[in-house]
Amino acid sequence: MPFVNSSSPPSASTRNADWQQRSRRHVWHPCTQSIRLEAVPPLPIARGEGAWLIDHDGRRYLDATSSWWVNLFGHAHPAINAALHAQLDTLPHVMLAGCTHAPAVELAERLAALTGDALGHCFYASDGASAVEIALKMSFHAWRNTGRDGKRGFVALRGGYHGETLGALHVTDVAVFRDAYAPLLRDVHLAPSPDARGAQPGEDAQAVARRAADALDSLLAAQHERIAAVIVEPLVQCAAGMAMHDPEYLRRVRAACDRHGVHLIADEIAVGCGRSGSFFACEQAGIWPDFLCLSKGISGGYLPLALVMTREAIYQGFVDDDVARSFLHSHSYTGNALACRAALATLDLFEREDVLNRNRARSARILQRLREGLDPARAEHLRQRGMITAFDLRAPGPRFAERFHLAARAQGLLMRPIGSTVYLMPPYVVGDAEIDQLVDGTLATLDAVATTRAPEDRDVALA
Ligand SMILES: *Cc1c(COP(=O)(O)O)cnc(C)c1O
Repeated sequence: MPFVNSSSPPSASTRNADWQQRSRRHVWHPCTQSIRLEAVPPLPIARGEGAWLIDHDGRRYLDATSSWWVNLFGHAHPAINAALHAQLDTLPHVMLAGCTHAPAVELAERLAALTGDALGHCFYASDGASAVEIALKMSFHAWRNTGRDGKRGFVALRGGYHGETLGALHVTDVAVFRDAYAPLLRDVHLAPSPDARGAQPGEDAQAVARRAADALDSLLAAQHERIAAVIVEPLVQCAAGMAMHDPEYLRRVRAACDRHGVHLIADEIAVGCGRSGSFFACEQAGIWPDFLCLSKGISGGYLPLALVMTREAIYQGFVDDDVARSFLHSHSYTGNALACRAALATLDLFEREDVLNRNRARSARILQRLREGLDPARAEHLRQRGMITAFDLRAPGPRFAERFHLAARAQGLLMRPIGSTVYLMPPYVVGDAEIDQLVDGTLATLDAVATTRAPEDRDVALA
């Protein structure tokens, strides 16, 4: 099995070790307890090739997290590379205030068309958290433009994740990211998560969805005069540990928002771009939000790009001579031409290669192979939505995520469990053989982790 890596640590003379040492000295790594860098040195990646990452010692790792959920068509895809080369030689970037350019125009047009023009206006940003900031600001400002400036509060879901700038963090409910900065954050209204794992005896996923939506409806009934918007991650709350819910929830939330005059913000930063099985997750519920945030996969996982799409009526509310009524969010690299070009090449691939249909076969194989191989005494809540598959360990033990991550490296897999949740989120290019390697490697990693125990006390957060 050529994909199985040696589990012995690289010797001090290898090139991996050199990069690891230099990185430790000067690079401040995200989502990492620096004290653990000795035990879990960062993988020095030299190249990417399809679904694979190759380190400086020549070891290969299947990118089973799609590089933090951004990569759609593998690394160094020839079509995206060619589009970027051409754009690089023509126009890498120009400011979008007072100027415009083909990639920004074409991308906005094509995304609008994908919503049947329901969301016909596109505002560009550079990362997920700022797309969330923009949606929150736009919602508040849209209400203020109609004389309702008392509507300045937001409703977020328990376990929700929307990014980590201060504005995005205030609607994020993941303790490990939020708690340290809580004194800096505004209050938020938290509504129950529709996570299907929260089913009570006799309840199915739809019943959980109805119960969670009823609670949200009551909250809006009581507070709507002070609430601008509800923000949700449609279908999968990824950072909460791939918490999945029934589309019925989104239909009911849409109806409740309409009933009480509150905007709906769909944060599709992780679940958009086909990840949930449809291009936009909201399509599976047959609804459109008032604001839809995209980032991560939209550039194919190449370049930082985010955007917020909204409806005609909301856009029209900002059309005015008075500058105080126009939307203000100025960002130097907004609508970056290279990033928009990468996104257009990504949309081309969706059209040319029948991606959503072919992903159905990929998902089915992943689920089938896991069903066959997973020991129910060890794992529970095996679940899937599109190209996201996850299960939870019943008895993870201390530092499970870290131990699993390290053991997976030895199997030639790049995986980072969230707490006790193991998830498989590969790029949309994995073939049958790669899927089998992924599942077999995951099962072998579980075996390896079950026989090793870390002496340490607390569990660490690896997202
Ligand atoms: C990753 C993520 C964000 C934040 O995006 P960044 O580009 O990391 O700032 C926001 N919302 C969701 C649902 C995400 O998964």
